[in-house]
Amino acid sequence: MFFKIHRGTKEIGGSCVEVWTESTRILLDFGMPLIFKDGKDFNFQEFKDLTLDELIHLGILPNIDGLYLDSDKMIDGLIISHSHQDHYGLIQYINKKIPHYLGEATHEIININTIFTSQKHQIINAYYFEKEKTFQIGDISITPYWADHSAFDAYSFLVEAEGKSLFYSGDFRAHGRKSKAFYWFTHNAPLDVDYLLLEGTTISRKIKSFKTEIEIENDLLNLFQENGKINLIYSSGLNIDRIVSIYRACIRANKILVVDVYVGTILKTLSKFGLIPFPSKEFKNLKIIFSKYLCNRLKKEGNEKIFYQFKNYKIEKNEISEQLDNIVMLVRPSMQKEIENIAGIDGGNFIYSMWEGYLKKNDTMKFLDYLTNRHFTLHKVHTSGHADTKTLLKMVEAMKPKLIVPIHTFEGDIYNTIFKEPIVRLNDGETIEID
Ligand SMILES: [Zn+2]
Repeated sequence: MFFKIHRGTKEIGGSCVEVWTESTRILLDFGMPLIFKDGKDFNFQEFKDLTLDELIHLGILPNIDGLYLDSDKMIDGLIISHSHQDHYGLIQYINKKIPHYLGEATHEIININTIFTSQKHQIINAYYFEKEKTFQIGDISITPYWADHSAFDAYSFLVEAEGKSLFYSGDFRAHGRKSKAFYWFTHNAPLDVDYLLLEGTTISRKIKSFKTEIEIENDLLNLFQENGKINLIYSSGLNIDRIVSIYRACIRANKILVVDVYVGTILKTLSKFGLIPFPSKEFKNLKIIFSKYLCNRLKKEGNEKIFYQFKNYKIEKNEISEQLDNIVMLVRPSMQKEIENIAGIDGGNFIYSMWEGYLKKNDTMKFLDYLTNRHFTLHKVHTSGHADTKTLLKMVEAMKPKLIVPIHTFEGDIYNTIFKEPIVRLNDGETIEID
């Protein structure tokens, strides 16, 4: 068995690993880069009109035979670990005939994003895998392991063929709402794998252990208990662990959580995969705001049924104004117009609940300026979606891999100061034969 990391040996983002035998070739993830080769932020808008050849020439798409155009020897399958752009964001270039293996909920999330965002990804040839159920592509066996991560429905994979093995950690942590999945893993991990491809997103951070989602819930509760003000919270609508933390803090503080139709749709769709709040009679403290811009767009595209399904759970702007200190509202910069039309919100809390780096984005800075002018107080309440060093060590200890390969990290050079197992530093595109 052979493998090659097309991208990810020295960066976070754009993950793509190829594994092959004489008869079978598979890919693990096909992500959008977060940085360009020169280290600057990668903005796909600048490249979206380029041809396939140009994108390959620039190194934005990896040069892989049988992946894009029809050929006699096509890639036999793409496996997607989870629904974060840096793991699947370039799949629109892949030949539609190639089977895509992913979690069913991950496919639903990708479909929702196609309706609501500029990300248009259509997967025709989808095969759903399930945790701990080994499946076969040619002579390669793949076993998915459920991962605790800020993306819903995330997995790590054991890949085996010809008596050799490789484990791809994907993105994971142990301080989220699925921490039990990680502790289960530490007792049931595959042992003695030849290569562990281990993410190290946060490995350089000095803090040895991160706040748990339960601690985040408590921090939010403290803020929600301040009287007389509205709480606006900016968090990813796809970070379901965080939305659960927010909702639970709302219940404890006796507040109503208001989300827009996009987040309402995500919650409703994913509620069939797990116990999460969604617009329904069961979750009385959850209401939906019909933002004008979004509803007009959905209507124009013939998708009005998406917001009609929430009509019984709708909250009007004047109803929000009448009970400001009862309201916690999930917001994002594109909702500024909506917020402008809610009377009397000045002087509330603005809770920023995402990675701090995004605060530097233009639209976020403008949004923050706007809220500061309206006398909002900024609070930062967040914890990472990735493993802290303590958790990385636990994974390694549970698996006892023969070799560790840094991936999804800018700090591969410090792995040897943390782990006692031998570290193999690879370059993007380097072929390794597991023998
Ligand atoms: Zn991720």
